[in-house]
Amino acid sequence: METKFVSIEEAAALLRAGAVVAFPTETVYGLGADATSDAAIAQIFASKGRPGDNPLIVHIGDLAWLSSVVSACSDTAQRLMDAFWPGPLTVILPKHENLAERVTAGLSTVGVRMPSHSVALELLRAVELPIAAPSANVSGRPSPTRAVHVADDLDGRIAGIVDGGAAEIGLESTVIDCTVEPPVILRPGAVTRAEIEAVIGPVDVAEVRTDDVAAPKSPGMKYRHYAPKAPMTIVQGSEAFFRQVVAEARCAGKRVGVLVAEEHAHCCDADVVLTCGSGQAAVARRLYDVLREFDSADVDVIYSESFSEVGIGEAIMNRLRKASGGRVIAE
Ligand code: AMP
Ligand code: MG
Repeated sequence: METKFVSIEEAAALLRAGAVVAFPTETVYGLGADATSDAAIAQIFASKGRPGDNPLIVHIGDLAWLSSVVSACSDTAQRLMDAFWPGPLTVILPKHENLAERVTAGLSTVGVRMPSHSVALELLRAVELPIAAPSANVSGRPSPTRAVHVADDLDGRIAGIVDGGAAEIGLESTVIDCTVEPPVILRPGAVTRAEIEAVIGPVDVAEVRTDDVAAPKSPGMKYRHYAPKAPMTIVQGSEAFFRQVVAEARCAGKRVGVLVAEEHAHCCDADVVLTCGSGQAAVARRLYDVLREFDSADVDVIYSESFSEVGIGEAIMNRLRKASGGRVIAE
């Protein structure tokens, strides 16, 4: 059965009844369910095909809800929440026993976030329950930044979708583990290391692994993510080098796709050129859209330009490295 687009009120009623519903946030679309119900949470894992050992982020609609989701909150975590909530920062803290066991994949900690998107906040406040919500894609696909992406992946498998237009940021939240000292950034996002350090002082950053990791700090790190169907490689070097790489692949009989910023749209002679706008915010917003577009383009290989790692650029390159399985060629 086709999944319906629903209003905030309908979505709230569905969530209260234990169903799973996709909704917009400022980062990407989330697939929500009642974080206190094991049966509801089981449906998230089933509809996404998400491995059961990859925990979910719990979303709250008000700071007052925090005490029903976590069992303790450090002074450091509190300062981060005061500075960045509502917004794209997920804080890992000891979990409250209220939460369904499966939300945290059996871990003693939980990731919690208060989103800033007006639809997400309105929905959470209408449901009056903490809502677990991973990205609303089939596991392994790029995260959805528009309602149509959710429908492409999950049509017929979820109870409803709230359409709130295109996500403003386009990349998942920054995740920071506050159960250790100093705190560790497990996943870079729109809230940058420099912004965090300006509030709480020095933090560590978890190493990005694209190989198989047996016991990573964040379980999500061990899964290959966001991979387009054609193998992608990041190219580091001059425009001339990029042109040469593309030309050699075409000479070898390959159909070549390239992913570049708008200003490099004419940098080389490729079969398919997809651009993700101009400037970091645009690249972040468009990246997953473009990765999805490549899946319907007829290409054998994809080459991506390498973007600056300043600010949100760190998150852009983190997702690109995952999408390319760590394949990089440098001049
Ligand atoms: P997603 O919901 O798809 O954005 O993925 C959530 C990310 O947060 C995954 O990489 C998880 O592994 C990570 N995460 C969620 N909860 C925890 C936790 N308690 N400890 C460590 N990482 C977590
Ligand atoms: Mg995800």
